[in-house]
Amino acid sequence: MSCVFCRIVAREIPADILYEDEFVVGFRDINPVAPVHILVVPKAHVSRIDAPEVCDLKLGHHILCAIGTIARQEGLQEAGFRIVSNAGRDGGQTVGHLHFHILAGRRLVWPPG
Ligand code: 5GP
Ligand code: ZN
Repeated sequence: MSCVFCRIVAREIPADILYEDEFVVGFRDINPVAPVHILVVPKAHVSRIDAPEVCDLKLGHHILCAIGTIARQEGLQEAGFRIVSNAGRDGGQTVGHLHFHILAGRRLVWPPG
């Protein structure tokens, strides 16, 4: 298995996992760009947000619920946070397994670079 996030889900490589349910895993980004930088990934290997399997597996529901749970768990509600899912070249995606970034802990600029 060559996909790094599949390997994290399978516990083949270590990660700081802070959330897990039947469908989703959340863990800290290895190269954080904000004081809080968490990645939320489906356990199933799905390439990106526009892959048809996202609907087939109802991943939108599972991932959005997991993001809210993690935000409450990590105490991000009061100051707020941002969700990002990069897709493809122009989106800046570097890992080909669907993931949502939760960014928090500093004031984030808008629009993004
Ligand atoms: P993308 O650029 O595809 O939107 O985001 C991929 C993210 O995965 C990057 O923020 C990168 O730091 C993170 N990442 C890549 N490899 C690993 C890893 O082995 N462990 C963890 N925890 N994060 C990783
Ligand atoms: Zn994968």
